[in-house]
Amino acid sequence: MSVTVRVPAKVNVQLAVGAARPDGFHDLANVFLAVGLYDEVTVTPADELRITCEGPDAHQVPLDRTNLAARAALVLADRYGLDPAVHLHIAKDIPVAGGMAGGSADGAGALLACDALWGTHASREELLDICAELGSDVPFSLVGGAALGTGRGEKLRTLDVGGTFHWVFAMADRGLSTPAVFREFDRLGEGTDIPEPVASEPLLDALAKGDPDALAAAVSNDLQPAALSLFPQLADTLAAGRAAGAMTGLVSGSGPTTAFLARDAESAEKVAAGLRASGTCRDVRRTSGPAPGATVIG
Ligand code: ATP
Repeated sequence: MSVTVRVPAKVNVQLAVGAARPDGFHDLANVFLAVGLYDEVTVTPADELRITCEGPDAHQVPLDRTNLAARAALVLADRYGLDPAVHLHIAKDIPVAGGMAGGSADGAGALLACDALWGTHASREELLDICAELGSDVPFSLVGGAALGTGRGEKLRTLDVGGTFHWVFAMADRGLSTPAVFREFDRLGEGTDIPEPVASEPLLDALAKGDPDALAAAVSNDLQPAALSLFPQLADTLAAGRAAGAMTGLVSGSGPTTAFLARDAESAEKVAAGLRASGTCRDVRRTSGPAPGATVIG
């Protein structure tokens, strides 16, 4: 017997970052949109906890207990006094260290899969609580759709979305470490007055109306200058996507994946073709959002 859960990637359509707090974390106003790129996590009873991973980036995924999928299984087993003896298999389609919350997706997926396999029937609140313990982006991977995250990003408010947005993602040929990007944000901001992060009302309105023009005008990412500083070639990818007809382009989360908004599916295809031909990225994927959160599919 086994359980498989499908979990989406995310793009941050707004990422407002406050000054570093005394504990080193940053307060955020983080508007997440789940998009249709998915990892699948399959959990099967086994003699002991082990992890395998398949996919183009599989060699970059840790297969020990630092993997967020393993940590999720361990935390749930611990809370319910169970033996975490399972085989976790990750079919990975979300880029690793790409700013699309791939590890977080696997954490949320493993949690939901183990809950179903073990029949723990944890409440939604308890699952969200465990997700928040695993990492700031993990609760959103469980919930999907669109949401505003505040605090470290883990306090979530679900948002209404009035339509489908078409996206093209350009994957870079190497990853960026999220902590390194925050350190660069702190370095670039030294001596400046960093305002409190607040969600943009025009942006929330654009999502609610499903209006791509208004969304394109409102997207923002405070981590983008830091990501560009560490990975200057991303400026070429952003320029190539815009030249290919994207309404806007931005770094996704801490990067280095770049995200391009297109007016419709046909225009997205042109943006994808332009990006592929530009030679400024490793891979290009076309998809749409919002996508559902972690879902048991088998
Ligand atoms: P975020 O968008 O949440 O900042 P990310 O998409 O940039 O995250 P991840 O793909 O989650 O980055 O990977 C970041 C690091 O986390 C990896 O380099 C890897 O060492 C570690 N990691 C732990 N568990 C996983 C997992 N299941 N899949 C991928 N990476 C994992």
